[in-house]
Amino acid sequence: PNHWRLYGRAMQEGLERRMELENELRRAVQQGALSLDYQPQYDLASGDMIGCEALLRWRHPELGFVSPADFIPVAEASGLIGEIGAWVLDEACRQWRAWADRGIAPPRMAVNVSQRQFSGCDIAERVERILTRYRIDAGTLELELTESCMMEAHGNVLEALASLRRRGVRVAMDDFGTGYSSLAALTQLPIDTLKIDRSFVTGLQTDSPNEKVVSAILTLARGLRLEIVAEGVETADELAFLREHACDIVQGYLFSKPLPVRAMTALLGSEYGRRSAA
Ligand code: C2E
Ligand code: MG
Ligand code: MG
Repeated sequence: PNHWRLYGRAMQEGLERRMELENELRRAVQQGALSLDYQPQYDLASGDMIGCEALLRWRHPELGFVSPADFIPVAEASGLIGEIGAWVLDEACRQWRAWADRGIAPPRMAVNVSQRQFSGCDIAERVERILTRYRIDAGTLELELTESCMMEAHGNVLEALASLRRRGVRVAMDDFGTGYSSLAALTQLPIDTLKIDRSFVTGLQTDSPNEKVVSAILTLARGLRLEIVAEGVETADELAFLREHACDIVQGYLFSKPLPVRAMTALLGSEYGRRSAA
């Protein structure tokens, strides 16, 4: 009985924390306390920055920095994800346009979306409106959905993704390798890009345990004509391995952490400003 009571209390506390987080999150949304950081992505062969990923940030006055890994699930469970996701999409595209007006926009903008965000609105139509509003070519936008998200997705979500892709919007499967997609599904899903999960990239070098897994994923992606992004690249050894196995795109602390707007703007200025001036 003691065990049961302990367990019950822990559950109660978990529930309370979750509800508190939900309330705080609702307030943060209302008060505009969310922001986006941007992490650059580089073409491995040329070294050029080919895009960036928008990552949601929430700095709470007392709780401090709350990780999206903690609050996104709360947003999904409470339905707040609809409003948050719509804001993220709009804000990332608005920022891209602001950079484009200064001649320093990256070729691509990747935005994380949750499949729960698709219910109750026509996502394809919403994306279309945003692209028109900010004058963005469809091929500039890449939507990232996690592998497990895609596996749970119902037909209408996949249909919406397919219709977005027909319009030219890119779709990436995020955290690839952590879910359970059948290899057959990979050939049928509406995707352009596989993002290899960081857990496979960490410690990657010749003769490391993940070597065979990653080289097999890279071969598979090539065969299926999917673009491949390695996320969480932190060391020169990992990079050397990825280069040797002809990975397309890399992203990680080795190149840059996710940056607040000001720092990202400065980086984009040195990346693209110089060239157009030359
Ligand atoms: P993700 O989309 O896979 O994003 C990559 C995560 O890895 C980010 O964590 C990023 O800061 C971190 N990261 C990047 N490079 C490195 C590295 O070299 N080493 C290490 N250790 N970490 C690295 P973050 O920003 O905490 O986001 C966590 C997850 O939350 C994201 O994973 C994504 O699934 C979700 N998320 C973030 N922003 C949004 C959003 O706007 N909407 C939705 N639906 N989900 C979001
Ligand atoms: Mg992502
Ligand atoms: Mg990921």
